[in-house]
Amino acid sequence: MSEEIINKLPTKEYDWLCHNLWSLGLKSYKEYLECPIWKDKKKMMLESYPNCQKCKSKKGLQVHHKTYRHLGSEPEKDLIVLCIKCHKEEHNLWQIYP
Ligand SMILES: [Zn+2]
Ligand SMILES: [Zn+2]
Repeated sequence: MSEEIINKLPTKEYDWLCHNLWSLGLKSYKEYLECPIWKDKKKMMLESYPNCQKCKSKKGLQVHHKTYRHLGSEPEKDLIVLCIKCHKEEHNLWQIYP
């Protein structure tokens, strides 16, 4: 996630993100995306939801965080599987990645 995007996060989300990264002993969100906790979670989500949860497409599925509140121990309700198109739309509203 670029600095520019971090700056666009709502303050509350930014605080949660920083706090949770710190708790996990990680320096950046990018490190989190590369760690096994997230990789397993992402795999599990994609297995449970083989389609975009908005439009049912199967193209370019990604796992989106609705919130960073529980980063590192996200309950399923904090995450949503979206296709690349719906994910982009979501970020027009939120400016959060991923
Ligand atoms: Zn979609
Ligand atoms: Zn996202």
